[in-house]
Amino acid sequence: MQFLCPHCQAPIYSRKQKICGVCEKSLPPELLLSEKQIAILKKQDEQMEKRAKEFQLPDSDYGSDVSGIV
Ligand SMILES: [Zn+2]
Repeated sequence: MQFLCPHCQAPIYSRKQKICGVCEKSLPPELLLSEKQIAILKKQDEQMEKRAKEFQLPDSDYGSDVSGIV
């Protein structure tokens, strides 16, 4: 589902922004994420990042050939 700015019809790429990036008019709250939704997304992001970091932890067995490239 794509959200469009009601003022200039530009697609809204980030629903965390309170103003349109094109016409800089304020966006209606129903188009935006609520504080609660942002908090949930942030938590999910953090968990994903944490998981990614754990996955990328240098491992003495599997990390040896990767470090050769870098
Ligand atoms: Zn706009």
